[in-house]
Amino acid sequence: MIPSAFDYHRPSSLDDALRLLGQNEDAKILAGGHSLVPAMKLRLAQPKTIIDLGGIANLNYIREQGGQIAIGAMTTHFEIESSDLLRELCPLLTELAPKIGDVQVRNRGTFGGSLVHADPAADWPAAVLALDAEFEIAGPAGRRKVRAGDFFLEMMQTAVQPNEILCEIRVPKTDRSVAYIKFAQKASGFAIAGVAAVLNKTGRTAAIGVTGVAPKPYRATAVEMELRGKELTLESIRVASVKAIDEIEPLGDIHASAEFRAHLARVHCRRALELAASR
Ligand SMILES: Cc1cc2nc3c(=O)[nH]c(=O)nc-3n(C[C@H](O)[C@H](O)[C@H](O)COP(=O)(O)OP(=O)(O)OC[C@H]3O[C@@H](n4cnc5c(N)ncnc54)[C@H](O)[C@@H]3O)c2cc1C
Repeated sequence: MIPSAFDYHRPSSLDDALRLLGQNEDAKILAGGHSLVPAMKLRLAQPKTIIDLGGIANLNYIREQGGQIAIGAMTTHFEIESSDLLRELCPLLTELAPKIGDVQVRNRGTFGGSLVHADPAADWPAAVLALDAEFEIAGPAGRRKVRAGDFFLEMMQTAVQPNEILCEIRVPKTDRSVAYIKFAQKASGFAIAGVAAVLNKTGRTAAIGVTGVAPKPYRATAVEMELRGKELTLESIRVASVKAIDEIEPLGDIHASAEFRAHLARVHCRRALELAASR
């Protein structure tokens, strides 16, 4: 349970952090440490250099910006949970945040850290996919933007390269027709199946993000297509939700078999849609 030796840096600017990342081979960014530190203690990760983003003041904020809401990568789960701005303008995030782990995890763990870590059972990926969020990533050549649909590449692998830092996540404003429902692993709270639904009742469209069920989070596009242009009734939602795993192979592990995860995905898709439609 003791990590291997490493050098520690706490830069005070993003430029310095990027420079350190470029200069040090085998360096890792540290955000809240709630995934990286346990991995280091188990020696699943053995970085030679740690670059702690905790000293950079301007990576932690939630603000309205150009018709969207911009969230700094170092914003904690608790800061999102307690944000009046998000409760008003993007309530999916304030509904999801309290469902993550426990108080200690939410006080230290960060939005950006969770998204870059891309644990297949993490909650945030379902929400950012359903919201079609935009990610801003800084690297040696400047900044680039990536849409949520292109961000999650494989299990625990994202579009953020080893020499890059995720700086900001931008989400659209929505009304209250949203919901996040999950079936949690009892000890950790991680999602065995988690479904985020974002409805546009006027345009009669639904966006559905699913986590926990497959090696990487995904949009349930077969469900979305089935519902497009239709009135949301208990029957239309029931019929569409059956398609929740049409595009993926469900995971099976010690927590749940593939068959059980498939069942949970369909049931939670139906419940998330029903709840969002009722709001
Ligand atoms: C007991 C326990 C229960 C938990 N329960 C849940 C749960 O129910 N749901 C859930 O979703 N999560 C859960 N988590 C995970 C938690 O949400 C962590 O906050 C999250 O996984 C990682 O965020 P972090 O800020 O701690 O990142 P860190 O552990 O510091 O970093 C994680 C990885 O991301 C990289 N990284 C971090 N930030 C950046 C950045 N800005 N740019 C580039 N790379 C970066 C790091 O190098 C590292 O590889 C739990 C964790 C614990 C310990």
